[in-house]
Amino acid sequence: MKPPRSAYLHIPFCHKRCFYCDFSIIPLGNSAEILGGPGKTSINSYLNLLHREISIAPKGPPLSTIYLGGGTPSLLNKDEVYELLKHLQKKFGFQNGAELTMEVDPATFSENDLKEYLQIGINRLSLGAQSFDDKTLASIGRKHNMDELIEACSLVDELFKKGFLLSWSLDLIENLPGLTLEQWSFELEQAVQTDVPHLSIYDLTIEPETVFGRKHKKGELNIPSEFIATSINLKTTNYLKSKGFSRYEISSYCLPCHASRHNRMYWSGSGWWGFGMGATSAPWGERFARPRTILGYKKWIEEQENIELESSLIDNPSRKMPLDELLMIGLRRREGVHLEELAKYSGWTEEKCNQKLKLLQTYWQEFLDEGFLLEKNGRFFLSDPNGMQISNQILVQMFMWWDSVHFADVSEPSS
Ligand code: SF4
Repeated sequence: MKPPRSAYLHIPFCHKRCFYCDFSIIPLGNSAEILGGPGKTSINSYLNLLHREISIAPKGPPLSTIYLGGGTPSLLNKDEVYELLKHLQKKFGFQNGAELTMEVDPATFSENDLKEYLQIGINRLSLGAQSFDDKTLASIGRKHNMDELIEACSLVDELFKKGFLLSWSLDLIENLPGLTLEQWSFELEQAVQTDVPHLSIYDLTIEPETVFGRKHKKGELNIPSEFIATSINLKTTNYLKSKGFSRYEISSYCLPCHASRHNRMYWSGSGWWGFGMGATSAPWGERFARPRTILGYKKWIEEQENIELESSLIDNPSRKMPLDELLMIGLRRREGVHLEELAKYSGWTEEKCNQKLKLLQTYWQEFLDEGFLLEKNGRFFLSDPNGMQISNQILVQMFMWWDSVHFADVSEPSS
């Protein structure tokens, strides 16, 4: 596995928890911005832990993508972000032209805040829009409203058009409760009207330990039917294609030259450093998720400092990302996966490739026959939109194949 050239920093603070969200976050109410208030104290103690974690990480080559996600990283001020970037740069260095992305939420920044973030090196912004409808925003527990969102978009777009930003992106959620095809068409039109060059569109996932999870259990969540969800998904792809966007990954659409390099790194199976409470990293191919609570994270940092470094963080040339994981993430991309190349990279012999990869094709045969999955010169990829829409079913078959192969491997007596 090549040494990681990307880093993710988790900034867990939010004003309040949205009804669908089960991320590792710390809700601060309105105290985040009050100087010396309880919110600021929490932020300071957390940043101290984050700096300690960066300090104990092993060194590596210069970074080409850095992503500040959350949570709501725009609850940090310029100096706090600057100190984090400075620390990362001192530790690893940044490549020339490195992509530095920061997630920002509407109503958490002013024009001046944005300018300050850009002055210290942020060159790509990802704006958490989720919806352009006030009623929907309130029903999912977001803090911002539509006017604040439109204002945030125009501030970001102005800086982009003046050349201060490389690119920017909006997040939207598909298939929210009560959503109709007509409303979704309005959401897409509003998004495109902002002139945004990149969109991340996620399907709503119902997590059990959330307000939505509890409502769903009681049958109180009016989730769009499968038929409406399919129409919504088709509308997204067709409408965005008609506006010049291409779908380079299941959830990501961009105008030419605006794909997120950090996203592409992640879906290509490369390694990355992850820092922060609940953050996942896989610098050398093995995933490791940090504790999701502040107390657990603090304890883990102390162990790292005093006992021994988590093994997944230490370079080990023989360690590789498992083949099933490479296939799972690679299939999300427009270009799909080259089965034989990936299997050989995972250490499979020619003979094993011949035997086992043919078997995988039999697991996938019905999807190949129906055109959900396409093959060209050994490369397999999902058709858009039909294959991407049923990607989970295709992955389930892949995991069944993987279990059969893996089980046979571990059952074979060693000589
Ligand atoms: S703002 Fe984002 S991270 Fe924070 S609670 Fe809402 S969805 Fe979760």
